[in-house]
Amino acid sequence: MNKNAQTETDTTNVNPGDQGEPGTPGVGENICPECKGKGRIGLTSCPTCGGTGVVLEGIGGA
Ligand SMILES: [Zn+2]
Repeated sequence: MNKNAQTETDTTNVNPGDQGEPGTPGVGENICPECKGKGRIGLTSCPTCGGTGVVLEGIGGA
């Protein structure tokens, strides 16, 4: 029996548009395709990049 009843969740702060965790080898920052690097869409923070304007994408061909 698992005494930790919580579902295992990712504690790292990764945005929906990120394809890898920050600091992961083979993952690089890229201009967010949704907001074109502006970090927001209209008046709303871009949900894809979390308002950073960049997303993390795998560059190692994974
Ligand atoms: Zn964005």
